[in-house]
Amino acid sequence: MGRIKFFSGENIPLEMHKVRIVQKLNLPCIEDRLKFMQEAGNNTFLLNNRDVFMDMLTDSGVNAMSDNQQSAMLIADDSYAGSETFTRLEKTLEDIFQTKYFLPAHQGRACENILAQVFVEKGTVVPMNYHFTTTMAHIVLNGGSIEEIVIDEGIKVTSKHPFKGNMDLYKLKAVIKSYGKEKVAFVRMEAGTNLIGGQPFSLQNLKDVKKICEENNLLLILDASLLSDNLHFIKQREEACKNMSIKEITQEMIALCDVTYFSARKLGFSRGGGICTNNKDLYMKMRELVTLYEGFLTYGGMSVREMEALRIGLEETMDEDIISQGPLFIEYMVNELDKKGVPVITPAGGLGCHINAMEFVKHLPQSQYPAGALASALYIVSGVRGMERGSLSEQRDANGNEVFSNMELLRLAMPRRVFTLSQVKYAIDRIEWLYKNRELIGGLKFVEEPKTLRFFFGRLEATTNWQDELVKAFRKDFPDSL
Ligand SMILES: *Cc1c(COP(=O)(O)O)cnc(C)c1O
Repeated sequence: MGRIKFFSGENIPLEMHKVRIVQKLNLPCIEDRLKFMQEAGNNTFLLNNRDVFMDMLTDSGVNAMSDNQQSAMLIADDSYAGSETFTRLEKTLEDIFQTKYFLPAHQGRACENILAQVFVEKGTVVPMNYHFTTTMAHIVLNGGSIEEIVIDEGIKVTSKHPFKGNMDLYKLKAVIKSYGKEKVAFVRMEAGTNLIGGQPFSLQNLKDVKKICEENNLLLILDASLLSDNLHFIKQREEACKNMSIKEITQEMIALCDVTYFSARKLGFSRGGGICTNNKDLYMKMRELVTLYEGFLTYGGMSVREMEALRIGLEETMDEDIISQGPLFIEYMVNELDKKGVPVITPAGGLGCHINAMEFVKHLPQSQYPAGALASALYIVSGVRGMERGSLSEQRDANGNEVFSNMELLRLAMPRRVFTLSQVKYAIDRIEWLYKNRELIGGLKFVEEPKTLRFFFGRLEATTNWQDELVKAFRKDFPDSL
């Protein structure tokens, strides 16, 4: 994929797989979509999947499995202790990551719970390129705090920087100096930095971070949940790695880190998670928490079927043709939207296409939740479900005031190997139509606002009748299209 050029000169990603199992999709008509969106309180989390045409809510646990993954699930060895499946998975990790010890967990945040309980103490700090929601929650729950020290370019909406997820080395030194190294619980690097648009860091940056950790005797922990996208970008964008295989890059990255953990809902096209290390002392410290919170050491809350699928999925992650599908589809979508003038985060990262709602609906104040309103509008005009990543996803402060987010994004995740290019073209087409009609999009206000995690369960309504106007405009342009 990506290495095949078309005679016509057209630059499109070509799928390096064929489809052998399919699921029928529904595309309700726009009048029904309006009704469904309003019944869901204008919250895309509350839609029924049967009413969604393209589910771009997340890449978590919804990636397509391969034939080899499916068949491996049939040989899963179901036993509480000493399962053959576990031994096979452990061997695969030893081969790919070259780590001796593996602790299974039910998903990524379960690994974070264990890491935070073992390493974070009250008053300590965790410097990281950028936080992820669940990571930060576990660190704060254990009395720690975080310092976000991604390079300045990382939080610029449009950029040409190939590695926007790089850690700023000067900021890292400054954090260590100001807190004192004994107050640094560990340093965390997140591959494919999720919340800033799936942006990668370079292998060189990881090496530089490691050097500073060594000089200060600090642990370096890698969140490898979005490793596969990051590997693709290192191979594509880092000159020094052009001739390395994906496996060689992986092994060099993992060897630089004291502990690596991941969500297998993303890495390995499966479900579950795990922690890997070569350090026996650290392993022993974490081990008892696995049995306490996850399950016995040979399954850790995962089903053996998922573990077999993960084993094959990790092997497949070493194949450039397989891991490049997601990033190349995203790149196609981002570049096409960019060409049409639609404001998107650039350069394209992994995970999904991110639309800059602050710019798309710049007539809406943040108090009317521009990214939430855009998510609602896009579902109404297309049946495409995205996720609000803006002020709705924040929480009010102690005095009940709104905390406005730095960015107002509509994230359109690209589950790996799930959509065809014509489906992606459909999404681009409807987004372009919506952009041309953006003045019609109005705001949202809460009718039910939960105190915590309001973005999951909150219900909102339109501030005016703008949604009816939007449907009317669509019907004018598409008198007889769904
Ligand atoms: C998804 C994710 C997690 C959490 O994993 P879950 O399996 O959803 O608990 C942690 N870190 C990153 C970078 C992620 O993308």
